[in-house]
Amino acid sequence: MSTSTEYDLTWELDSLYPHPESDEFGRLLTEYESDLQQLADDSEKLPAISVEGDAPARWAAFLERCADVFARTEDLHAFVGCHAASDAGNKEFQRLEGVLAALRPLIEQVSTNIEFPFRDVDDRAMNAFLGADDRLAEIGFYLRECQRNAAFRLPKSEELLAAELDVDGLRAWSRLYDRLSGELRIEVMEKGEVVCKSPGQVSLDSPERSVRENNFFAAQKAWASIADSCADALNHISGSRLTKYARLGVQDHLDLPLRLNHMKRETLDTMWSTITERKPMLKKYLDTKAKLLGLARLSWYDVTAPLPSSEPSGAARLEYDEACGIVTRTFAEFAPEWGEFAQRVMADRWIEAEDRSGKRQGGFCTGFPTRQQSRIFMTFTHSEDSMSTLAHELGHAYHSHVLRDQPLLLQDYPMNLAETASTFAEAILGDQQLSVATDAQRLSMLDRMLSDAVAFLMNIHARFLFEDRYHQERVDRELSAARLSELMHEAQQEAYCDALDDDGWYPEFWVSKLHFYIAGWPFYNFPYTFGYLLSLGIYRLGDELDDFPEKVRQFLIATGSHEAEAAVSEAFGYDLSEPAFWQRSLDVVEERVNQFVELAGD
Ligand SMILES: [Zn+2]
Repeated sequence: MSTSTEYDLTWELDSLYPHPESDEFGRLLTEYESDLQQLADDSEKLPAISVEGDAPARWAAFLERCADVFARTEDLHAFVGCHAASDAGNKEFQRLEGVLAALRPLIEQVSTNIEFPFRDVDDRAMNAFLGADDRLAEIGFYLRECQRNAAFRLPKSEELLAAELDVDGLRAWSRLYDRLSGELRIEVMEKGEVVCKSPGQVSLDSPERSVRENNFFAAQKAWASIADSCADALNHISGSRLTKYARLGVQDHLDLPLRLNHMKRETLDTMWSTITERKPMLKKYLDTKAKLLGLARLSWYDVTAPLPSSEPSGAARLEYDEACGIVTRTFAEFAPEWGEFAQRVMADRWIEAEDRSGKRQGGFCTGFPTRQQSRIFMTFTHSEDSMSTLAHELGHAYHSHVLRDQPLLLQDYPMNLAETASTFAEAILGDQQLSVATDAQRLSMLDRMLSDAVAFLMNIHARFLFEDRYHQERVDRELSAARLSELMHEAQQEAYCDALDDDGWYPEFWVSKLHFYIAGWPFYNFPYTFGYLLSLGIYRLGDELDDFPEKVRQFLIATGSHEAEAAVSEAFGYDLSEPAFWQRSLDVVEERVNQFVELAGD
């Protein structure tokens, strides 16, 4: 067995900050805590938004301090998080994570106090305010966001009371769901014995249909047993939100989720209607897959099943150096800057990829804004999948890299734009891998790509339709568990173009999906679909635009300082409220479907 020689499998953290267990780090943390406390205290004394006297200068100076403290907050969370992830059993790192988490309310206090004064500011007053100090003009987008967000704030005393009541209301229902779902156990048969498993341990991806089917029905039965309590939670979560919207005069329950994602209603409507129009191609994929599995039609538990013929695409053991080389070369072919960046990240040891015990699960990329660096955490398992993860996380690191010289308050981007660079990077690598694969490998690679398409375009569409409809009904009354299941069943049939078997649906899906119960994030669904199609669409534009890598770079910079629509139209010239851009994204999916059907010999 060869070991990695060219690139280190472990990361380097010591140049970022002193070790978390050192006295020096302790001093840094104390200093940060006192600066944050002072900032929170001073946020209570901010002047009104006005051009009178020294108000603009005081605001500008305060926001500079915020940028500094917020950036240090990210640095420290990232630094402690990196140490904790690579040494999962270390109690001191866990304690420090707790210390930092306990300081979150102070950050909330500052953000809230920044937003409130904008509640009664009209556009004219806003323009005058931004014009009164260059430092304010520079972060104009951030301040306009504050103004837009302020529309979702009640008068201060009511807002504070509502936030306190939410602890035992809205957020309590969400916590109840976490407890109920966390305690749930599913009884499945294994080697003739009944064993109890948590939902995450019950797989629907087994190559054996009988195993998938049994697991599915066992899971369905278990989730159904807590459906009534979950229906209560769902009714009260949406009920709390709707009460607040009514108070605010917000008519549409999609206004807040759209605001959180910096996008407009027309964009969302166009995205869904264009998807709906193109869905028959996915039906073709599902029908072909059913044939390959020897079925008349697929059931819910067949959609992500592996193909019978599938040979694992990366049967040969892939060394880390080799994976780094393939990723760097593929990136460099797209744009020299991408290749050089990947090379630098690997050579400077920004990546922790070692396969060893004692690490946390999963992968992430985390940024250190004051150091203008990132760190990538993952476990390289010598598979093609882990090479894709490497490309994905490098995409995130590149996104932070191009934003590094922007004002700190313009380096944040919303959920729907967060995965653009990462998914894009994966797509570059995916195409390269497809081009060198055998037919059998290509068939299973395309199958995996198209199950993603089904997830983003059908499964998430069903979640969106369901959530939209139960919010509509909830305005007038509470919904029973049976009614919620009925709505989910209808939403699935519509979103999947009725492509699944008659008894192959999953009406209790709303009980099993945590995303419906996240207190602070209504509609935790459409941003995924938006992000998926956005990165595919941008990827496709490479065929028609000159100077494409530079346009991608400009777009990524704009994610921190533009509404989603403006970022796309300025960089690529497409209007997201028109179908043309979405059609291009869906063309990519259609080509994959056609290749899949052809390879399947249909
Ligand atoms: Zn990601």
